[in-house]
Amino acid sequence: MARQRTNDILAIVRAVYQELTGRPVARNCRERTECCQFQLTGRTPHLTKGEALLAAKAFRATGRRELADAADGICPLLNRLTGRCLIYVDRPFACRTHFCAAAGGPYSRHEVIDLIRRLEDLDVLLQGDGPRKLFPAVSAALDELR
Ligand code: SF4
Repeated sequence: MARQRTNDILAIVRAVYQELTGRPVARNCRERTECCQFQLTGRTPHLTKGEALLAAKAFRATGRRELADAADGICPLLNRLTGRCLIYVDRPFACRTHFCAAAGGPYSRHEVIDLIRRLEDLDVLLQGDGPRKLFPAVSAALDELR
């Protein structure tokens, strides 16, 4: 993928995240990372193609090359040594809206539906397959960035 095109895509996704940050919806994430343990929550974040490209780019920026799926249901982007998200600044939309109960609970869909639609529209533009589970979505994006 040409560098300028990639940068344009990442800028669109970041603009959506930025707008979300500005919404007056009171939540207080303390990085407890409960939501990063999918076997506990029963939920796995789904990413549109633009989000996956941004997550893949952020993952590469950590110096890592390969993403390994975890058999124990913990997010492959969680650093097990530090207990922190490897890509927190560029974490996917779902990670920004599905808060645990301690942080105030998840956003209602209607609070962010316009932003979801923007990510989905970008997905269509990029000929994505719609929102996909985190591991296959980011793995495919890593291949595309090669
Ligand atoms: S991408 Fe980061 S915030 Fe989202 S589930 Fe994985 S480790 Fe947690």
